[in-house]
Amino acid sequence: MQRITCKFGGTSLADAACIQNAISIVKANPARRFVVPSAPGKREAQDKKITDLLYAWHNMARQGLDASEPRRIIEARFSELARDLNTTFDVRPCLEEIAARAAQDETPDYMASRGEYLNGRLMAEVLGAVFVDPAECIYFKRNGELDPVSYERLGDRLKGEGYYVIPGFYGVTPDGAVKTFSRGGSDVTGAIVARASCSDLYENWTDVSGFCMADPRIVAGAKRIEEVTYRELRELSYMGATVLHDEAIFPVREPGIPIHILNSKAPDQPGTKIVATRKASAPVCGIAGRSGFSMFNIEKTLMNKEHGFGRKLLSILEEMQVSWEHMPSGIDTVSIIVKDDEIKGKGEAILEAIERQLAPDDLSLTTGLAIIATVGQGMNHHVGVAARLTGAIAGAGVNLRVIDQGSSEMNIIIGVESRDLENAVRAIYEAFNDWNGTA
Ligand code: ASP
Repeated sequence: MQRITCKFGGTSLADAACIQNAISIVKANPARRFVVPSAPGKREAQDKKITDLLYAWHNMARQGLDASEPRRIIEARFSELARDLNTTFDVRPCLEEIAARAAQDETPDYMASRGEYLNGRLMAEVLGAVFVDPAECIYFKRNGELDPVSYERLGDRLKGEGYYVIPGFYGVTPDGAVKTFSRGGSDVTGAIVARASCSDLYENWTDVSGFCMADPRIVAGAKRIEEVTYRELRELSYMGATVLHDEAIFPVREPGIPIHILNSKAPDQPGTKIVATRKASAPVCGIAGRSGFSMFNIEKTLMNKEHGFGRKLLSILEEMQVSWEHMPSGIDTVSIIVKDDEIKGKGEAILEAIERQLAPDDLSLTTGLAIIATVGQGMNHHVGVAARLTGAIAGAGVNLRVIDQGSSEMNIIIGVESRDLENAVRAIYEAFNDWNGTA
């Protein structure tokens, strides 16, 4: 019998009607037995996500401020859900516990995880499912990575018949403390559950009908991607395609469990399938970009002959605990692109260390960059992809600051000024939409 893990995002569980809809989706296919809920999300644009309210509560309590407002809203939302779903579930004891810990807990993780925990308890009752608490079987290592032992431990808890509900977003550290993934991390839990339960498919139910070839907020009516590989998607989601958490690929990639992105409000739409391999017809499957990057530019005559230049340069970043994204280079020049978040307050010190240790002829830091990835595994069999891309950028009157082709020949990375991000994405989309390439 086929097994399916279904993860539902916050907007798919925002109120009782949404939760009922999710339950009907689960019940519509007997293979759907492992359910991973997010915390209830926004019911409308002005509404607050439960997770955001929990973070706010922690923040206020830590500062000694009165946090009765977020607490009141959370209590009202869960009480309403419990009533509308005809459950006996009582949120109050859990809120008492949160309140008792709010000011003491240094990190917000325990509190932030309660949105998923409470929603999981509710859904388990409605579905008649076994509730499995990730604090008992999804383990983080000391360095914050997922401990692979989780697959076995969680798998042991999912062996029986019937439905299981496993809340998303959190696990436990070796010290027994609840720890969350980064925001949107229920997608990662869904992937862990899919692997631990030996599911044949991981369905990720969200509020859009899959991935589009470009962000539809930038390119209105952008074409839907029918099928994309794990590797392509990793590039796209890392670079800003936000439908799925960029780390959700890892647990399922090794066993090759496909992910299917589906819309809970339009369950019959085909969505996007994320698979290990696919037959690429068009050279480009997606374009994604984001701003918030800076670039160190280093120039030194005969750099190419100087042994250890690159190593020394990268060790400066390592010593400053800065990770880098791309490193386009020429004969006498090299640039290093880093996220602004990474270099916060360290830019001057890095420049000073490069100056001192490498004595470049010229050195500068460019800020305010956006990076755009144009991705497609079909790219390496086609002539003229980069030419078409740069032509489109020039045609849009956008100044191209950097261009770098990954060694996988599966993506071309360009850097433009942040204010040009949207224009550039639109231009690239127009250039590759409906272009089947020249083989
Ligand atoms: N509720 C968490 C968040 O808002 C995790 C998730 O929904 O995936 O980030």
